[in-house]
Amino acid sequence: MKQRKQIGKTGTVFWKQAGDRAVSLLFPRVCPLCGRILPPVQNTLLTSGDNPYICRDCYRELHFPEEPLCFLCSRPIRDETEAYCRNCAMTVHYFDQGKALLMHDEAAKKILYDLKYHNRRDNARMLAFEAAKRLQEWIGQIKPDVIIPVPLHRKRQLERGYNQAQLLAGRLSEILASEKIFIPVDSRFLVRVRKTSAQKQLQSAQRIENIKGAFEISYREDPGKYKNRTILLVDDIYTTGTTISECAKVLKETGAGKVFFLTFSIG
Ligand SMILES: [Zn+2]
Ligand SMILES: [Zn+2]
Repeated sequence: MKQRKQIGKTGTVFWKQAGDRAVSLLFPRVCPLCGRILPPVQNTLLTSGDNPYICRDCYRELHFPEEPLCFLCSRPIRDETEAYCRNCAMTVHYFDQGKALLMHDEAAKKILYDLKYHNRRDNARMLAFEAAKRLQEWIGQIKPDVIIPVPLHRKRQLERGYNQAQLLAGRLSEILASEKIFIPVDSRFLVRVRKTSAQKQLQSAQRIENIKGAFEISYREDPGKYKNRTILLVDDIYTTGTTISECAKVLKETGAGKVFFLTFSIG
C-alpha cells in the first residue's frame, strides 16, 4: 500500500514537471536578479549541479553562510571555539536547530522582497532548488515528518494573495519529492490569530512581546496530530528567531517531538 502511494506521488511529480516545461515554453523564466531570459529547463535533478532558475553571473552574487556556524541557528560566528552565536547564547529558543540558505545581503533581499511584495512567485522555485541541493543531507538526518510554513494572518494573506513561506515550503517539498524524499506540507495546522506589526522595526524585547500569542493550532485540527513527530518549520527570513521560536513553542505544547527550521536567508 505504502509503495503504491509512493508511485502515485512520483507520477504526480512527472506530470507536474512536464506541465512546468510546457509553461516555460510559453512564459520563459527570467533571472530573479538581472531579469535576463533563462534557457528552458531541461533537467531539474539536484544532481545536475547548476541552478536552472538563476543565470550563472547572478548565481555568483549569492552568499551562503560559511563555517564556523552557530550550532542552533546556523548564523556564521567569528570565534570557532564558541558553539552559539550571541543571540542564541542569550535567548531561550524553543526550536531544536535550524539552517538558513543565504546570507541576508542585497541579492537575497531583492529575491525575497520581490517574492513577497512584487508577486515574483517564481523566485520560490530558485530558492527551494538551492535549499534542497545544499540542505538535503541535513534534512535526511533530521527526518521531518511534515513541513509547516510560518503562517500569515488570514487578512494579510487575502491582501497579498499568497503566503510566501507556504510557496517556499510547497516548492521545497516538490523538489525533494523528485529526489524521492517525501515530506508533506501542512499549512492548515498552525494559524496566525493575531496580526502583528512588522518585526523589522522593533527591538528584541518588543519583538518577543509583539509575537506572543500570535499563533495557535487551528480549531479545525486535531491538536495531537503531530505528537512525538518531527516538524520542519519553513519561513523566508530569520532575524532574531522570535517568530520561529514562538511557532515552535506552540507546536511543542501540542506534544510535537523535535521542531527544526529552514529559512531562506539569515540576517
Ligand atoms: Zn541574472
Ligand atoms: Zn545562533
